[in-house]
Amino acid sequence: AKSGGRGRVEFFSAPLFDLARRSMELEDELRRALQRHEFVLHHQPIVDLATGRVQAVEALVRWQHPQRGLLAPGEWLAVAEGSGFMAELGAMLLHESVGQWSRLARVHGPQVSVHVNVSAAQLRDGRFAEEVATALADAGAPPERVVLELTETQLLMVHDALVTDLGRVRDLGVRLAADDFGTGYSSLAQLTTLPIDEVKVDRRFVAAMAAEPRSRAVVHGVIAMAREMGLAVVAEGVETADTAARLVEAGCPAAQGYLWGRPRQVVDLRPLDAPRGAD
Ligand code: C2E
Ligand code: CA
Ligand code: CA
Ligand code: CA
Repeated sequence: AKSGGRGRVEFFSAPLFDLARRSMELEDELRRALQRHEFVLHHQPIVDLATGRVQAVEALVRWQHPQRGLLAPGEWLAVAEGSGFMAELGAMLLHESVGQWSRLARVHGPQVSVHVNVSAAQLRDGRFAEEVATALADAGAPPERVVLELTETQLLMVHDALVTDLGRVRDLGVRLAADDFGTGYSSLAQLTTLPIDEVKVDRRFVAAMAAEPRSRAVVHGVIAMAREMGLAVVAEGVETADTAARLVEAGCPAAQGYLWGRPRQVVDLRPLDAPRGAD
């Protein structure tokens, strides 16, 4: 921080310094949390709108904090993302999420898929395909029952190495989903350059369907486009029966949201372990 002699440290404004220090403290706390097995996975159903059956579940991380209780990812996940810690946490979450597949299949049936959120940090070192292969091998989970969710932020820097790596991941038999679809400026471009199998329509459009004709048009447009491209579609953030009915009317095949259930602990977990073979 201090470069160029005495006094230069004043370059940092006090609030910025506080923020940096707070992030460092949080980062230390997160590292301890990993060692103490304080991270747990909750699951939220993704429902087939034609049959009402649970076709998949999305694994969502929570921090079981000893003092502050169960923490959904907010500030702390952003700090982990910015810390160099997220590659390790992400690898662990991937490993555990895939590892839970057989228990999820016992609850929901063998057709159920598990959706896993992937962090940008996991895509940085060009070894993501290896990481996925290891998780699949350790779990003995069918690759076609695993969907990896990538957001705009993860895919923003589309470069040849990433395209190659994601191609290798998909060659393993897993599927790739574009998460929060429609919110980023390059979403559409990604569908033409990356091996995406599924789009998850961002909840801001879905939630606004009833009230805003333009959001409704976005949802209808994405569904039509996905059908044309042969992609699967999931509408996110469905909270009301009215929205669900509109989605059915629009020909949307699947949806997820509080209407069918909040994320909760579906399977009884042993504490999350650190990933095997983590470097
Ligand atoms: P996301 O991937 O878009 O996940 C969906 C978020 O929407 C979840 O928030 C879920 O609880 C929430 N949600 C689901 N249905 C509804 C609804 O009907 N209404 C509303 N208002 N919200 C709904 P959550 O669990 O707090 O996760 C926030 C974000 O943190 C996720 O957004 C994802 O980007 C990230 N995240 C969560 N778990 C993981 C993980 O294991 N690894 C990584 N890398 N990121 C994760
Ligand atoms: Ca997601
Ligand atoms: Ca999403
Ligand atoms: Ca690694």
